[in-house]
This record gives sequence, structure tokens and C-alpha cells, in this order.
Amino acid sequence: MNIIERIEHIVAEMPSKPAFISRFGKIAYGDLWDASGKLAAWIDKTQVDNKKPVIVYGHKSPWMPVCFLAAVRSGRAYCPVDSSMPEDRVLQIIDKVGNPLVLSTEPLELENAHLIDELKEIIKNQEIISKDKWISGKDLFYVIFTSGSTGLPKGVKITMDNLEGFTQWSRSLGRELEEEERIFLNQAPLSFDLSVMDIYTGLTSGSTICSIDKELQQDNTEMLDYIKENNVSFWVSTPSFADLAMTAPEFNDRNFPCIKNFFFCGEKLTVSTAKELRRRFPKSGVINTYGPTESTVAVTDVVITDDMLEQKELPIGKTRPGTKIIIIDENGNELPQGKAGEMLIIGDTVSPGYFEDDEKTKAVFGVNDKGERIYKTGDKGFYGKDGQLYISGRIDLQIKFHGYRIELGDIEQNLLAMDMIKGACVVPKKRDGKIQQIAAFLVCEGIEGSFADRKMIRNFLKEKLPEYMVPKKLVFVDSIPMTDNGKIDRKKMEASL
Ligand code: AMP
Repeated sequence: MNIIERIEHIVAEMPSKPAFISRFGKIAYGDLWDASGKLAAWIDKTQVDNKKPVIVYGHKSPWMPVCFLAAVRSGRAYCPVDSSMPEDRVLQIIDKVGNPLVLSTEPLELENAHLIDELKEIIKNQEIISKDKWISGKDLFYVIFTSGSTGLPKGVKITMDNLEGFTQWSRSLGRELEEEERIFLNQAPLSFDLSVMDIYTGLTSGSTICSIDKELQQDNTEMLDYIKENNVSFWVSTPSFADLAMTAPEFNDRNFPCIKNFFFCGEKLTVSTAKELRRRFPKSGVINTYGPTESTVAVTDVVITDDMLEQKELPIGKTRPGTKIIIIDENGNELPQGKAGEMLIIGDTVSPGYFEDDEKTKAVFGVNDKGERIYKTGDKGFYGKDGQLYISGRIDLQIKFHGYRIELGDIEQNLLAMDMIKGACVVPKKRDGKIQQIAAFLVCEGIEGSFADRKMIRNFLKEKLPEYMVPKKLVFVDSIPMTDNGKIDRKKMEASL
């Protein structure tokens, strides 16, 4: 059974079970299936031979998964775009994908955007699409855009087979729960691959997805009440988000007995976060997983034990069946256990590459002599004596800040697009190894660095980049510091913060 067939099977078994709940509405499996089947028929009639990915724009509406399924049942991938992104970034993505069809659950000033209210009317007269139109195997399932070092986002292509491989494994993670208890938390925007963990592990196991919107996430008390009311049992988030939840002292197993598993991915799980969670939820599983968007969410997992909490660093675990990770040096030679180097992911969840970008694809993707796909992660890691993988940094300028993936070059290129900025270098400000803030060192012409100048620069960036990428600190310098051998001295700038 493939993913779509699996969902079809669940629909037949329990059509009235809620599939997706958020403050914007609720949809049952039967309605999800019916609406997506009809919408798929309309997409197919409207698009005919155009098989480009369909843009799905919005934020946490139950109509987002309807549109996702509609696209794949019409034989097309989808590309999720969250409405919290600035307009310029949204337009860049739409332009790159090159499909005029945009399905939107929120108002979007774009000629070709079809708002959900319009689609609800349209589908009333449609028949459900036939199964032979569905995507299959090597066809693309979705394209997720992530920060790119050249100042433009890059689209990661994920096939049906990739997602199939991932969900087969992700469904087996954590403590097993009764069917009626299975409620996944969706914290990440649906345009981030972390959300794939809850959406597709959930939908392919007949679970309910409880999605919390951005505004709700601003109010910890209200958000935790919502999570409790909806009996979330599988918590899926970045560790930063769990830290935020733990600022409420009442976030513990006495008040939240429903939470049975905590799944983490996307950034380092620190000993302190895991320790505090284990203290507050001694009976729940804390599971650290690791993986990049380029290899379909996650490829390793480990259940954190009390023994591990005595270590300085936590492992990211062992690889899932179907994936191998090897560690290589700068010359591409495999390194033995204990030696740190770049992590290479080999296996069936590795993406076929970046959307319409052969150059970037060739730089980091490949195939070995067994025909298996390989992805050069840029992550530095090693195998410990315990056989577990540990991650120890990056070999490039990609960072994770509050769980968000950011290429520092992306910010630098957008800063350099301003006429008065002649030089820009962006560095993270760290405390105890954790990033606290992003800072930009700027060489400017014609401005002094007054309050108004800083505001103007930040406002310019806010129109181009998501808010979390806009540097809080701007440092005006006469020249960018260089090392003796003429390289940009990022370490010196970082140390000065
Ligand atoms: P993304 O594509 O947004 O999921 O980001 C992938 C990157 O996040 C990886 O290449 C790592 O640098 C980082 N990452 C993901 N999971 C973990 C983890 N469990 N521990 C440390 N870093 C992680």
C-alpha cells in the first residue's frame, strides 16, 4: 500500500475520525478524502498537461492538508508556502515553481490565487478523481523551500518513494498507543519539513493532528490549554519550542498526562532540555531524531535514557533501516569510529535534488556504485564508542536559530542588495555554544548608523526575509576584519559580540 492508498484505507475504516484540528477548523478523514478527491479533479481539468507543483499558501487551516492531498491525487506535487513569509519571498518561490495555480487558504494579492471559499463552491460540482491520476513511486510528492546561501531560497524535491520510506519508519517510533489516543502535535509551519513528521506519520496511521497556529504560540498559557484540551499524545517540535513550553511551571505530567512521547528534530537537543523534560515527564519517551529536509525529515533516532543525561552531549542516535551514514574527511575518505568529519547520508529517503537547480544539486547530491542516493549534509559528526552518532557542528555557514535553518549568506546577499551597503558579514552571537542572536557587520557609504539608519535597514530586510532571519544587532565598521591570509575573520567578529 502506498501513502495515498493507506490514507484511503483509513478513510474507509473511520470516516468520521478527526484528521486535522486547528483554531481555524476541523476536518474528518471522510471529508478530507472527499474534498481532496473533488479538488483534484478540478486541478486536473484546469491544469491539463501542466504537471508543475501546485502552490498551497496559508497557515494551519484544515484546508491545507486537503490541498496537499488534492495536488498529489491530481498527479502533481505541491509546494507549501506559509503566510508568515514576507511577500517578496513568497513571490520568489511562486516564480521559481512556475505554476500559475495557487491554492490559498488566506487572502493573497495575486491574480491567479484561488481562495478556499471559491474552491469550496467549485468542488460542489466535481466528481472524485480516479485513482489512475494519482502520483506514484518516483513522482514528486512535495517541494519544500529552505534558505539558500545565494540569497534565494532553494526547493528540495521529495518523491512519493522518499516519503513512503520515511513514514514506514516514523510510524514505528515512540511508545505505542491505542488508536483513539493517537494525537500528534503540529507546531512547525506546514512549509517546514518538521511538519511532515506529524502530518504524514499522523495521516498514515489514522491519528488526529492538532495544529497550533503562530498567534496561539505567542501565548504560552492559552497554547498549553489548547494542547491539553485536545489530548496531544505525540509531541513533535524543535527542542527550542519545548524550552518555551517549560517556562510554564505547570507543564508537567500531572497536568499533561496525555503526552506520552516527545519527538525532537531540527536542532541540537541539549542535556539540560532533556533532563528537565525527564524530570517533569518521567514516564514519557524523549526521542531525539536527526535529519535534513534533503533526506525527508529525519534518518536517525534515539530514546534518551537517564544514563545518557550524565554525558556532556546527547547522541542523535542510529540510522533507520534503509539509511546509512558515513563520516568522511575533506578528501572524501571514510573516517573510523571516534573521528569527526562530514556526515554523508546514503539511502532511500535522499531527495532527487533541488528544484530546477542542477548546479546546486550536483554540488551536494550523488549516486554510489550500488545506485543508492547520497547527500553531503554539511554537518560534522562522529560515531561514539556506544555506536551512536554524535553531531558536533557544521562545515559551512548554515546555522539553526530557534530551530530555523538559516544560511548566513542568504542574509548577507540581501543586505548587499541595498545601495549604501558595500560590505556585509553576518555572524551568530553564541553563549554556552547556543545561538542567542544574529549580528551583521556592515561597511556602509553615506549613512552613519543612526537609530533611523538601523531601522531602515531592518525594515528593508523584513520585506525580503522571514522575521527570524533579520539580524537584531547591526555593527557598523570601516572594513570587514580579515585574517592574516586574507580570509574574512568570522571568529574575530563573533568573539567581539
Ligand atoms: P532542516 O533541513 O531545516 O531540517 O535542517 C537540517 C539541519 O538541522 C541538519 O543538517 C542539522 O544541521 C540540524 N539538525 C537536525 N536535527 C538535529 C539534531 N537532532 N541535532 C542537531 N542538529 C540537528
